[in-house]
Amino acid sequence: MNERTSEGLVALLQDRGYVVVDDEHCAEVILLNTCSVRAQAEAKAIGKANLVCQRQSQRKLIGVLGCMAQRLGKALYQKSPSTRLIVGPNCIEKVPAYLDQLIAHPRERILDIQMRPMDRKLAAAHDENKFQPSAFVSIMQGCNMRCTYCVVPETRGPEQYRPIKDILQEIQRLSAHGTKEVTLLGQIVNHYGIGQMPFRDEKSPFVQLLEEIQGIAGIHRIHFMSPHPAEFRKDLIDAYSRLSKLCPHVHLPLQSGSDSILKAMKRSYNSAQFLSIVQALRQRVPTISISTDIIVGFPGETEEDFQMTCAMFDDIKFDMAFVFKYSMRPGTVAEQLGDQISQEIKDERNQILLEKVKQYSQAYNETMVGQVKEILVEHCAKRGQGQFEGRTPEHKKVIFAAEEALIGQLVQVKIERCATSTLFGKIVEISSHRQA
Ligand code: SAH
Ligand code: SF4
Repeated sequence: MNERTSEGLVALLQDRGYVVVDDEHCAEVILLNTCSVRAQAEAKAIGKANLVCQRQSQRKLIGVLGCMAQRLGKALYQKSPSTRLIVGPNCIEKVPAYLDQLIAHPRERILDIQMRPMDRKLAAAHDENKFQPSAFVSIMQGCNMRCTYCVVPETRGPEQYRPIKDILQEIQRLSAHGTKEVTLLGQIVNHYGIGQMPFRDEKSPFVQLLEEIQGIAGIHRIHFMSPHPAEFRKDLIDAYSRLSKLCPHVHLPLQSGSDSILKAMKRSYNSAQFLSIVQALRQRVPTISISTDIIVGFPGETEEDFQMTCAMFDDIKFDMAFVFKYSMRPGTVAEQLGDQISQEIKDERNQILLEKVKQYSQAYNETMVGQVKEILVEHCAKRGQGQFEGRTPEHKKVIFAAEEALIGQLVQVKIERCATSTLFGKIVEISSHRQA
């Protein structure tokens, strides 16, 4: 989400004459777009802001944006005294004007953490100078859930949905610039439009949105992140059999395999309901890739609770997962429970799950070896030397030899070998002519 907002802000800043530089040492202004989900993310951002201040030979203008700015407000001036701009996630569109003001008045500081309605221009803005074979599209902001561990509803405010016509126009514009894949973003994408837009033929506004995107000719692939299991209903499950562009990959956050922990987290589904979604998806698309988010060490998580998470992992065989050690966040309901599980146990549980991720991801990748997969060529691989990187429809990273001109094209790649998180192969056919 932050990456997407930062990209939109870059577009607004460029419109105003600001120029983005590759090297932070050359920058006159440094903006950090921050996350508050875990304490570590905040500590890192404050560390970075202070490091930038210490290192600077000439005075740079430093701004802290996003959730940490919202949560800490003016307390940030103490933690990071050189910061002159503090802007919450709902006021980011004001940043260009604030920068103009701060540059004109070098002694001033600005703090804006109001909860404003979403800015339609910022939400739709993309850096038009940058070619994006695959683009993020934000469809909503905020969150109405109250997961007891989570600071997001506090920092981002209640859900706000973008009008469907804005989203479609944005995707059409991206497609006209050569984008072939979109990832729809929101804290709970399958909540999109609920209570504000009608259901049609028992289809939620989110599924209606997917259908509309399916109709955009230049778009070949649709992903989304993240759906909430409690709202993952039949209309969305059936969409996987009906909508050819919906990619065979779903990121479905489980958080815990223990029903009592799920209840304490206020996640509003249980492990059996989660399993039945997975089964229904696999019935429609047997090879679907399923990834998840897990929190280990939530207050009160016993060894037995953790074993239930392990059992769910072994049952579902998630082929990718983000495993987080519980981080107590100020102002959340779970804060009152204290941070009960020791760091040592969190580390141990984290390690056990990471081993499982490795094992199941390797096993999933091995099933692809020998197959020919359609890959969207995204960019040069880090290793260089004529190597390029792209993704399968299942969102698996593939490295192969190619040339610059193929960036943004769909090619057929024979997968020859795999590692835990990467596949390697060679192009056997260029399929950019394929009709969407
Ligand atoms: N809206 C998304 C998640 C947003 S935050 C959803 O509900 O799926 C991304 C992930 O961070 C969450 O899925 C959760 O696993 C993790 N997370 C959130 N708060 C956390 C906390 N206090 N400690 C550790 N992990 C946390
Ligand atoms: Fe946080 Fe829960 Fe909302 Fe996700 S659904 S952003 S975890 S409160």
